[in-house]
Amino acid sequence: MSVTAIATATPSAIGSFRTRRSTNGVSRFKMSVRSGSVSMAAAPMLTKLQQDCATPLPVIRNVVASMSDDIRAGLAVDGGSDLKMILSYVDSLPTGDEKGLFYALDLGGTNFRVLRVELGGKDKRVIAIESDQVSIPQELMSATSEELFDFIASALANFAHKDGNFPGKKGEIGFTFSFPVKQTSIDSGILIKWTKGFAVSGTAGKDVVACLNEAMDRKGIDMRVSALVNDTVATLAGARYWDDDVMVAVILGTGTNACYVERMDCIPKLQGEFSPSGRTIVNLEWGAFSKGLPLTVFDRDMDAASINPGEQANSSFNIFEKTISGMYLGEIARRALLHMAEEGSLFGKSMREKLSMPFVLGPYLFRNPTIPNCCRTPDLSTMQQDGTEDLHTVGSVLYNVAGVESNLSSRKIVLEVCDTVVKRAARLAGAGIVGILQKIEEDTKDAIFGKRTVVAMDGGLYERYPQYRRYLKEAVAELLGPETYQNIVIEHSKDGSGIGAALLAATNSKYGRNL
Ligand code: ADP
Ligand code: MG
Repeated sequence: MSVTAIATATPSAIGSFRTRRSTNGVSRFKMSVRSGSVSMAAAPMLTKLQQDCATPLPVIRNVVASMSDDIRAGLAVDGGSDLKMILSYVDSLPTGDEKGLFYALDLGGTNFRVLRVELGGKDKRVIAIESDQVSIPQELMSATSEELFDFIASALANFAHKDGNFPGKKGEIGFTFSFPVKQTSIDSGILIKWTKGFAVSGTAGKDVVACLNEAMDRKGIDMRVSALVNDTVATLAGARYWDDDVMVAVILGTGTNACYVERMDCIPKLQGEFSPSGRTIVNLEWGAFSKGLPLTVFDRDMDAASINPGEQANSSFNIFEKTISGMYLGEIARRALLHMAEEGSLFGKSMREKLSMPFVLGPYLFRNPTIPNCCRTPDLSTMQQDGTEDLHTVGSVLYNVAGVESNLSSRKIVLEVCDTVVKRAARLAGAGIVGILQKIEEDTKDAIFGKRTVVAMDGGLYERYPQYRRYLKEAVAELLGPETYQNIVIEHSKDGSGIGAALLAATNSKYGRNL
């Protein structure tokens, strides 16, 4: 097949070639024509993938409506929809008045972070901030609960002791714990189940704050958790510290989740007293959303092979997360590329052993001990940033990571596969955000669309994948229309969750605010 024929099948990649010019003025597209032909069989496979992943406006509108309906049903009653709509017990957000030294621990998936912040009140705000990052040894991800929490407590002790500034009795911690938890109060919560490759025994069904407090006791650390929060909730709190218009927070990292500020009188399942603010943060656990998603055979196969596949034959576990978050995008692309290599000779006769290994292009998880160093999260993104004429970077990623030889034509197909997978992901994430905004607006007219509203974004995928950010924003703009979109600010809240957790330890301090 000629490159021109591929242009029909893959308009966007070729389009981007046409627009860029090399220094001597010859368009890259023309130069590429000379560089070999592509397998006849791979192109229709790409077209099929693009069709299966397509997210035209009606599809994402449908996702918006379903997300909004699922939010409502999940607020009505526990188990009312795919969305757990977990009450965070965070009903007062940072104001800027917080003062003192506070700690945050963040257990999220990739790494474990410890952070200390000195807050100086309205005028001084953040006086000092220090943090440390510790990667979690693979064996601890399937160790016992005591082993994991002892490790966390030791890391905290090392950090707190580092400059001799050990806080003693009043060391208060905001504990960001990004796994599904049934929260029972601001400082306690029962682990529902581990996700994201963790398989620690003996924690499910237990209070994770008690687990950490006990580990700190075992290690002789006199500190206490004042606030247990999800990373999404912490991100919202951190962003709100600087900007009163923040209403929603979304994490797009290894996994994904979202939360927002809800009116307590809009939560039928909330039995008990309303807080003075009358508002609370609700954590969607939106990874479990499942309605109206355009899925491919590769998603279904990946789900079936995962450590947490759908529990029933026709349902998938966390399929929204598996379609939009960083842990899975590389793996979906790998599966599509392997199919094209096997059935369409995409990489000619090159060896495909490496490309056959699950998660070789993806982020590191699934923690398969037989795959050495398979921690290659940003490969798709790296390839998509390639601006060289011969797609040199794409070629070297394919060679180094996937072990295949490629020519310009096959590299273009690979780029289209990446683009297709990331575009679907980002547009669905955008639709999810609009679903939340729409739900709030339906209950409180002009609360969202009639004024400036900020959606705080965080996570490595959002932060480091420019195409993802662009596609997400495009989808939100398409769904809302230009006038409404003007009021919506989708903003990266860098490290918001760390400081947010420390802030929530401050607003929920057991010892009073002014330490
Ligand atoms: P976590 O979600 O584990 O708390 P992060 O928010 O740092 O951690 O996100 C890490 C994830 O972000 C990785 O698993 C990977 O999927 C994604 N990621 C990291 N770097 C890049 C990159 N350059 N391009 C695309 N995705 C990336
Ligand atoms: Mg995180």
